Amino acid sequence: MNRKLFLFTLILIGFSLTNIAQENKMENPFFNKWSTPFETPPFNSIKPEHFLPAFNEGVRLEKAEIDAIINNKEKPTFKNTIIAMEKTGEFLTKVNRVFFGLNSANTNDELQKIARTVTPILSKHRDDINLNEQLFEKIKTIYKEKESLKLSQEELTTLENYYSNFVRSGANLNSEGKDKLRKINQELSMLGLRFSENLLKETNAIALVIDKQEDLNGLPDDVKNAAKELAAAKGYQDKWAFSLQKPSFIPFLTYSKIRDLREKVFKSYINRGNNNNEADNKNVIARIVSLRVDKANLLGYKTHADFVLEKNMAKNAEAVYKFLLELWEPALKRAKMESADLQNLVYKDGAKFKIAAWDWWFYAERLKKEKYDLDEAMLRPYFKMENVRTGAFEVASKLFGIKFIPRNDIQVYHSDVEVFEVQEADGKHIGIFYSDYYPRDGKRSGAWASGFRSQSNIESKFITPLVYNVGNFSKPTKDKPALMSIDEVNTLFHELGHGLNSLFQNSVYPGARFMPRDFVELPSQIMEHWALEPAVLKMYAKHYQTGDVIPNELISKLENSRLFNQGFETVEYLAASFLDMDWHTLTDNTEKDVPLFEKESLTKIGLIPEIEARYQTTNFGHITGGYSAGYYSYIWAAVLDADAFQAFKETSLFDKKYADAFREYILAKGGTEDPMISYKKFRGREPKVESLLKKRGLN
Ligand SMILES: [Zn+2]
Repeated sequence: MNRKLFLFTLILIGFSLTNIAQENKMENPFFNKWSTPFETPPFNSIKPEHFLPAFNEGVRLEKAEIDAIINNKEKPTFKNTIIAMEKTGEFLTKVNRVFFGLNSANTNDELQKIARTVTPILSKHRDDINLNEQLFEKIKTIYKEKESLKLSQEELTTLENYYSNFVRSGANLNSEGKDKLRKINQELSMLGLRFSENLLKETNAIALVIDKQEDLNGLPDDVKNAAKELAAAKGYQDKWAFSLQKPSFIPFLTYSKIRDLREKVFKSYINRGNNNNEADNKNVIARIVSLRVDKANLLGYKTHADFVLEKNMAKNAEAVYKFLLELWEPALKRAKMESADLQNLVYKDGAKFKIAAWDWWFYAERLKKEKYDLDEAMLRPYFKMENVRTGAFEVASKLFGIKFIPRNDIQVYHSDVEVFEVQEADGKHIGIFYSDYYPRDGKRSGAWASGFRSQSNIESKFITPLVYNVGNFSKPTKDKPALMSIDEVNTLFHELGHGLNSLFQNSVYPGARFMPRDFVELPSQIMEHWALEPAVLKMYAKHYQTGDVIPNELISKLENSRLFNQGFETVEYLAASFLDMDWHTLTDNTEKDVPLFEKESLTKIGLIPEIEARYQTTNFGHITGGYSAGYYSYIWAAVLDADAFQAFKETSLFDKKYADAFREYILAKGGTEDPMISYKKFRGREPKVESLLKKRGLN
């Protein structure tokens, strides 16, 4: 090839490469303005191959934005530093929110591979910002002058949050310390990802395939039908399959009369992540805990819990343990009484075995039937998913005057997803709400709320939120709609509460908001109180076939059984909370023997063998997913929500004054000031623990 031709070819290749890149940019929705309604993500045209280029561009842009702040030669001010920081990263946030939303709710091999590629890049990018000395110097300068800057309360909070976030991210470390921290963060980010991938694999596993009619003994037709559909979907013809997703295995434990099959299914459930296979989480979590000790020490804290709790209402580990122990004793006492009642049923049958953890659901269901003439099968027909969701919407409407309008013109990432526009009573747009309620292989277990976009109002540019609720509820079968259990009904209301919190947020700066973990469950858990109020049930609990409103007789049975099994539920929850705290109050970084540590932790509190902790270390997604030293939060916040709901009980269920105050101080402004101050503004006083004890029958 002569030289000229060679050059010419090079230029041609160069041209065509640019063209491809240009074309790709044109086709990649992240590089274009979204012309969808309310600029919702255009899911129909987002493809997995769009993410990596978009992530790269997002990182590049944010870097450039940060550099511009650093290189600004003017004296640092709130405007040229803090507001400027608030405006950075718009592109990256957009990609991030869509990608990680999908990776949790609708993942596949391709997305998981991308997650593994981008996670270390994002971890490094975060550290590049948080550990940048010049940037921190600027923030520190403004922070030192904060008293003289005449900032609004919200601006002051934003500034303080920035300063404290930088310090907590290692900004004060020397360069050796910073290097160490970077390495720890890199490794932690990958371990967290691996933990959740393993857990997803283990939860999707088929725990049991039944091929003989007699092994179905005790199972109601609905349960059999769902199991048959699952088996068919997994390639087993004319068999019945059960997975480790709750809507599948809980009914099996509740109804199966075959004790060793219950044992098999239950053990598969609690051993998720602990099967010595390629999805084993023991080493993963042991390493995570050890690195958390290193990180806490590096940042000047004795334990990971000290590091986390400093920002929570509880403030320190002592306060958490003290609170948990206060509840533990009465709860365990009640659980032992419940256990004795169940044991009596075993003896009554003429059997001699000691009741075990895999027997609890089965005998509890029988006892409930005997004592209250009530069972799940009587209730489910009144809790069709669409009716329940309408009920939750109606509660929100009655409290806050808002409307939920179905929108079929907004794109979704899966056919199970439904979309609603949320409006004020006068029609003013508030935001978009997506619901995605049924389990599938690409969805992690549990239920959660988050969003594709958060509210903000920087420089009077009001951005409205895009909020979603994801769950793993009982899904429709060929011949029946989705009929929910009471537990699922509560969860649907719970997640809508988180959703309302995001929809109602009203602050200028996202950086002003910090909802402590043990406060953030107040908006969600308070919704559960309305779910089962008789007056509310009459609004939405209608028979899926006849449309008849739930009869009074059934409501009173529900009311009478309100305290049933509360010992068990509180104990299994508290046990997991203690386990979480024990892991995160470790002061040494040796990697522990996970089963041994867990056993010691649960023995120490005197957990009885017929109850297992709600999660085991190897499948405790909360402690790798943002609730480390934070699982206690649910019951901590329960003091607040029980006390807050009492305000409505004492006045009226939809009292306007309290509803307005709740929206204003907790939902709209919550997190922009000290939570206790917000709470007192709503309630007029501090919360009292009595309402919680009464609600659980522990007083
Ligand atoms: Zn929650």
